[in-house]
Amino acid sequence: MPLNFYIETVGCQMNVLDSELAAASLMEAGYQPVSAKRYADVILFNTCSVRQHAEDKVYSELGRLKHWKDQKPDAIIAVMGCMAQKDKETIFRRAPHVDIVLGPGQLRQLPEIVKSVEKKREKRLEISLDRIDGKQSDVRESFQQFNPQRNLRVGSNPYQAMVRIMFGCDKFCSYCIVPSVRGPEQSRPPREIEAEIRQLADQGRLEVTLIGQTVNSYRYSEGGKTWRLQDLFAMIQEIDGIRRIRFVTNYPTGMTDELLQAVRDIPKVTPFLHIPVQSGSNSVLRRMKRRYTAEEYRDLLDRIYATIPDAAVTSDFIVGFCGETDEEFQQTVDLVKYGRFKNSFIFKYSVRPGTKAAELFQDDVPDSVKRKRNNELLAVQNAISMELNREFIGKTVEILVEGISKTAAKSCDLLQIDPPPSQLSVQLTGHTPCDRIVVFDAASEQHRQLIGRILPATITHAAPFTLFGKLIE
Ligand code: SF4
Repeated sequence: MPLNFYIETVGCQMNVLDSELAAASLMEAGYQPVSAKRYADVILFNTCSVRQHAEDKVYSELGRLKHWKDQKPDAIIAVMGCMAQKDKETIFRRAPHVDIVLGPGQLRQLPEIVKSVEKKREKRLEISLDRIDGKQSDVRESFQQFNPQRNLRVGSNPYQAMVRIMFGCDKFCSYCIVPSVRGPEQSRPPREIEAEIRQLADQGRLEVTLIGQTVNSYRYSEGGKTWRLQDLFAMIQEIDGIRRIRFVTNYPTGMTDELLQAVRDIPKVTPFLHIPVQSGSNSVLRRMKRRYTAEEYRDLLDRIYATIPDAAVTSDFIVGFCGETDEEFQQTVDLVKYGRFKNSFIFKYSVRPGTKAAELFQDDVPDSVKRKRNNELLAVQNAISMELNREFIGKTVEILVEGISKTAAKSCDLLQIDPPPSQLSVQLTGHTPCDRIVVFDAASEQHRQLIGRILPATITHAAPFTLFGKLIE
């Protein structure tokens, strides 16, 4: 009897892709995916360490599974991802019913480890070296790369795919745990990336998103040539079938003029730029050990809008970082107003043990102040998002139609069944090249033919996070 598995994923796109690859490799080894934990024999948590809250949730979920494991002693519980690399054997101490702790650099061993636990019923801890635990080359090697053949059955939808072009991070921002849990920066060889994207194109994928912790740090040298991100764009431009190229996440200082010009000039590259700034205050940026000033970031925004007038820029902000004063926060509000971001992801600072900020600074901004600043910044951003979206009313955009809109799918349960015959239209959703969500109605009898195509639509209404439109016949 094949064993059933269920993966719960939290965190960034790296984790989403890791879970997709892990699921594919387990299926290859004969395991079957199931839609809920209660049907599973193997439960895997792909975890995130960026915020305390995400870790607390995993530990309390593990606590709840204790009873389940007592009832089903042959079941296997695995903790993968950043929290596995960070907490190591502590996970076994806090949750003794966990069987496997597997770091993000050991993903390719997953099926073999699950099989061995199944047979021998022995706990397995497989993680990479800490960055101070060996020579740089040994540390780098201990973060094994995992780039298996892509499986069309796994993934969010059959028209889009994420492709990892680099691993790890060498920036060491003071608040961030990523450089220690994801290891040193390593770029993948261009020929491997090309082969993977050709395979995805053959499977019918129209859009690829190149991902990396700092994707614009991509650098690979071979045969006397150094490849940068813009060289990958030019290579992918030539791959038949791929219609759109996206890339996340960018570090501000890596947004060179060459890269911006490539976004402007290479037709398949979408003008969507996610460039986290984190704060608009130079003193906070210094404490965060970000390597630029607010003025340099403003200058970057000017260069972007001068080079790519239709650019959609998004950003991340941390509010309530150690010692953040009202005045420093106000500088962040001013930067949001100046940036006219399409949207921003705003987080309250959460101290991460093991980071420089935890060692050097007091987490001294009260939670009530963090919450107030979060809400205030969000309100400023939402008003800008609304204004920018309103400018689309009456315009024609190209949408990659991804499927039935989630709200419609939920309410009608349409992911499983065809719409009832009485229902004349179905609400579909898709993305513009500038990463705006567009929702539109389609006749129920023809909606399936529209999914997976890139089609023009006229925008009729706008909300801060969604555009509403009509397909052009
Ligand atoms: S650039 Fe900074 S915030 Fe981003 S992953 Fe690296 S260390 Fe973390």
